[in-house]
Amino acid sequence: MRPRVLVVEDDHGLRDVLSRGLREEHFDVVTAADGAGALRAADARVDAVVLDIGLPDADGRDVCQALRASGLRSPVVFLTAHDNLTDRLSGFSAGGDDYLAKPFHLVELAARVRAALRRTGQETAVESDGLRLDPVRHHLEVRGAPVALTPTEFRLLAALMAEPGAVVRRRSLLRAGWPEGAQVSDNTLDQYLARLRRKLRDADSGREINTVRGVGYRFA
Ligand code: CA
Repeated sequence: MRPRVLVVEDDHGLRDVLSRGLREEHFDVVTAADGAGALRAADARVDAVVLDIGLPDADGRDVCQALRASGLRSPVVFLTAHDNLTDRLSGFSAGGDDYLAKPFHLVELAARVRAALRRTGQETAVESDGLRLDPVRHHLEVRGAPVALTPTEFRLLAALMAEPGAVVRRRSLLRAGWPEGAQVSDNTLDQYLARLRRKLRDADSGREINTVRGVGYRFA
């Protein structure tokens, strides 16, 4: 459910800072150190790209054009060493969606990425009668008021909300909530669902997670 951002930056230290910071801002992050690596990484699902213009093997703008040519439709936010109008204009004509000059604050980069995701409709919120799961900010909104969720709670609720009124089997919830191969007891799942129920109740959501004995759970 988290948007996955590809960070393309040759400066090792900056790449680490960006990865850590964006993860704290609730993004999944994959990285590449050059243009060739970016093209390889973009084979997998990428919801947004943060792309340094000054890369060792290519100009970031050319990398962006190559990504577009290979079918990438996700938004691209360029990073550059100088806030230069020519760079900015050529960045947009190369298929970029936004532009940020170094040095910048990480919160600003995260905000730009979110805005680009919204503009390009990459954000896929799950909504149900006044409730909305925001995959970018990673929280539940109850009639516009945010309710913080842990990543696991978020994934479990998303799985339940995706099928309102239907019974979601325990096995499906375990698959949705935890990585493949994780050893999760029924008791752990129950504890997570109890916490979700409490959060739904405390937020006056008017919605419930019902237990269907021997089968699974239903979001009602
Ligand atoms: Ca660079």
